This record gives sequence, structure tokens and C-alpha cells, in this order.
Amino acid sequence: MVCPQCRTPVLLCQSLSDRRRRKAAKLKASSAVAAMDYLKKAVPCGDREAKAIVLHLRKENEGCHYCGHPMPRGALLCANCMSVNLDWN
Ligand SMILES: [Zn+2]
Ligand SMILES: [Zn+2]
Repeated sequence: MVCPQCRTPVLLCQSLSDRRRRKAAKLKASSAVAAMDYLKKAVPCGDREAKAIVLHLRKENEGCHYCGHPMPRGALLCANCMSVNLDWN
């Protein structure tokens, strides 16, 4: 889907397993580049797609990746800024 906040197309990766999603979220916590490399193989997708996914991954126990607004677990769109948030933790 296209993120209503930044207008970037974001792959929701519905076919990606929970285990792989958690792995990508964990990798992002230490290195965004490592998370991108992992997603490029796991999804699979290109550089641009992987970058957009990593950008929209929400950190564990934190709010919206963009504005920090608190969000319920698994929520896709931030009620405050309308950013797509991928809750893969
Ligand atoms: Zn966005
Ligand atoms: Zn937000």
C-alpha cells in the first residue's frame, strides 16, 4: 500500500512468516542496512522496496515510527499522522 503520510509504496509482505518478520525487526534494532539485506532475500524485493519496509518498521514498545504517537499492537496506520507502521516485533 502507499503510505498516506510519506506517499511511499510499502510492501506489507503478507506472505512473510512471523518468524522472519521478527528477525527483520530485530536486525533493524542494530542495523537498518542488515535488515534491508535480509528483506531483499526473504521477501524477496529490491533495494527501494526493502528501504521503505525498514523505514516503516515500528520499534518494540514504542509508538509510531514517525511521530511517536502511542499505537496499539498490530495497528497499521497511526491515528495522529497516518503513517504506515509495520509492527513486526
Ligand atoms: Zn510513510
Ligand atoms: Zn504517527
